Amino acid sequence: MSAALQLHTGMSEAEWQTRCTLASVYHIINHLGWTDLINTHMSARIPGEPNHFLINNYGEMFDEITASSLVKMDMDGNVLSAGGKFNSAGFTIHSGVYKARSDANCVLHTHTRAGAGVSLMKHGLRPISQDHLSVLDDVVYHEYGVPATQEECDALAVSLKGGGSCVVLLNHGLLTLGHTIHGAMMRLYMLERACELELISRQLGEEPVVVSEYVQQKAKERMQKRRQSDDYGLPEFEGLVRTAERLGFDWKR
Ligand SMILES: [Zn+2]
Repeated sequence: MSAALQLHTGMSEAEWQTRCTLASVYHIINHLGWTDLINTHMSARIPGEPNHFLINNYGEMFDEITASSLVKMDMDGNVLSAGGKFNSAGFTIHSGVYKARSDANCVLHTHTRAGAGVSLMKHGLRPISQDHLSVLDDVVYHEYGVPATQEECDALAVSLKGGGSCVVLLNHGLLTLGHTIHGAMMRLYMLERACELELISRQLGEEPVVVSEYVQQKAKERMQKRRQSDDYGLPEFEGLVRTAERLGFDWKR
């Protein structure tokens, strides 16, 4: 029996490991400056428990979040871990994605200035940057609805049924999902970077160069293949975790 399992009775080792990885995501997002006070949320489905996921204890700043403080929930909104609060809009979004997409094991959601800025436009991202090319075929635009309602949960499922995993939530922010936590994080990183460049280009006072259709198509084919790998985004994520550890963040408790 591992030390982690001995220390955390009442949960599987898979749950504890997922808690540690998801908690590291909050510290990484804090380090990257992608927070919005206590708002926005990252979640992960627990391996072997398809109807259960982990999300932040609402009220904690991202640099306060630990593996133990994450809240375990089911798809009906029941809290299964002792104590802890959740944000109802967060529950609606995250459970809506998990119910709609069996391939999603992680959902990340931000309100960054670049992401929320691009979300003000109907189809804000244009094929003008290498960063956007890496997610070009994976982007979905979802119309703003009434937060924390079943209606919004259902509408999100409709937006996601085509298979896209990088979502621009119009008038709101960004959301990515992935089969793995690192895959969802890689998508979010590239989507965020694409949004930053899109906003920069709109301030230059000159029309940007649009990447040719041929190159766009080749990029789509290449990135679809890369994203099929379970290793997509893994080296980058491991690097971010090492950075967070070097900075002294302590989430494994
Ligand atoms: Zn939000």
